[in-house]
Amino acid sequence: MEKMNEKIQNIAKELLENKEVNLIIGFTKGSNPLRMRSVFITDPKDVSKLSFNSHCVQDLAVFLKKPEVKKFGKIGIVVKGCDEKAVNTLIQEYQLSRDNIKIIGLECHGVIKQNLADKGENSLNQSTVYDKCLSCEVHTPALYDYLVESDEQAFEINDNSIKPYAKIEELDLMTAEERNGFWQNEFEKCIKCYACRQVCPLCYCTRCIVEKNTPQWIETNIEETGNAQWNMIRAYHLSGRCIGCGECERACPVNIPLMLINEKMARDTFEKFGYKSGIDINAKPVFGTFDINDFNDFIK
Ligand code: SF4
Ligand code: SF4
Ligand code: SF4
Repeated sequence: MEKMNEKIQNIAKELLENKEVNLIIGFTKGSNPLRMRSVFITDPKDVSKLSFNSHCVQDLAVFLKKPEVKKFGKIGIVVKGCDEKAVNTLIQEYQLSRDNIKIIGLECHGVIKQNLADKGENSLNQSTVYDKCLSCEVHTPALYDYLVESDEQAFEINDNSIKPYAKIEELDLMTAEERNGFWQNEFEKCIKCYACRQVCPLCYCTRCIVEKNTPQWIETNIEETGNAQWNMIRAYHLSGRCIGCGECERACPVNIPLMLINEKMARDTFEKFGYKSGIDINAKPVFGTFDINDFNDFIK
């Protein structure tokens, strides 16, 4: 990754020196070689800290919604293709101005699951990457100001029995009661820590519905109905918007398979409305616009 890192560092240095941005958000080496973390750089002398490899799992676009970051005005960000879709969605939803962001897009072949990396896994292949990487359509980001090509070879998909999000098809074949049982079991584990919300680049409401108590929309204690309400409301608030970065599922301390919900919503949105989130900054958000031809058979 040496060439790739050098290119990222040179772009960042140029942007900071020319005052085209006041801050660069990127990845740097973490506490061990298989852990990467975010870094915030304002001084061109520090760009040597920037680094990228297949352990850069975080979606750095989450920081773009923070007031502490917004105050820098013009910002440069290092993004993989999936994370860049979050930047596009923030622009589409008027949370970010295209003029204030420089996108350093990275060609990316996949990132290694963190639980495997924690056990020392360092090879990129079909069984070590996240499901999102097996169905990735944005190995090259959809939008960028600079593109940094990968030094790594793309891996071969040689085992067709490994299907991304295979559980979705299994759930679709269940009866409504069985499916409800599956999700009740999962939601029962929820401890309402809201890590899924905090890590999501697209959960940016200044006051989340879960914190409103007049009226109280969602029970705040940990109990069956409130847990299901919380997870379902969050899924609906993200449908047609979630860009599938997988950060909510990665952050969940009790391992609720949140990506099954996100991916199912994304598949349904595409099937019913022909819309994929985060691809086109000029597209109107699918659930923020009315079209007389919209699918409406569900209205009885
Ligand atoms: S989904 Fe695509 S862009 Fe995102 S980490 Fe996986 S391979 Fe890279
Ligand atoms: S809901 Fe999860 S997968 Fe979707 S954008 Fe938010 S953090 Fe990423
Ligand atoms: S991260 Fe997991 S446990 Fe925490 S609120 Fe979200 S779903 Fe519940």
